[in-house]
Amino acid sequence: MIVGERKPLQEILKAVEKYEKVLVLGCGECVTVCMAGGDKEARETALAISLARKKAGKAVEVESHTVERQCEFEFLESTRKGVEAADVIVSLACGVGVQTMNMHYQDKLTLPGINTTFMGLPVQQGVWMENCLGCGNCVLEETMGICPIARCSKSMLNGPCGGSQYGKCEISKDVDCGWNLIYERLEKFGKLDALAEIKPPKDWSTTHSGGPRKMVREDVKL
Ligand code: SF4
Ligand code: SF4
Repeated sequence: MIVGERKPLQEILKAVEKYEKVLVLGCGECVTVCMAGGDKEARETALAISLARKKAGKAVEVESHTVERQCEFEFLESTRKGVEAADVIVSLACGVGVQTMNMHYQDKLTLPGINTTFMGLPVQQGVWMENCLGCGNCVLEETMGICPIARCSKSMLNGPCGGSQYGKCEISKDVDCGWNLIYERLEKFGKLDALAEIKPPKDWSTTHSGGPRKMVREDVKL
């Protein structure tokens, strides 16, 4: 899932200070699951904006609404009435949702209410872990299902580096060394020989380093 957290309220208040009619728009997908931008958070944010503005003696009308998925045009029509009535929209979707809103409703400004952080998973209640950078050429089959791009701080393909100590990465004692995790799984499956194979340099052009990416599937394209 895409993981993010709501921007500090003060930041959102500053972003909407010039507007009198605000729509806070939640998304029913990843940000709902990571408890950052679903319907509950959209209502809470709308209420918080309203209370803060009233306390400051400034008029504001704040509505909230949640669409099933903000990152697809077809789900955005359901909020047209709210968008047209608002001066500005605060999106609690990920950065993709914010941009989809700005593309779909080009005459209205949609502002980000979430700091989109990474693609990852919840490992316990309230804790998420990054585990994929969308590199465009997955190598998980070579690394026992542990991503060396996301889980190694240097995105090394031939690890571990000399900074790996007692299973932790040199950047912090709280960060597992991704390559130590890979080593442990190779050992568990009796495949440590794989470490002797030198991986060639990765073609980073399939990552964001190659510029904005676009995927076309001719088999499903209309
Ligand atoms: S190798 Fe690439 S696609 Fe596969 S999990 Fe890692 S970043 Fe994601
Ligand atoms: S210590 Fe491990 S995770 Fe950290 S940079 Fe080196 S190989 Fe990568």
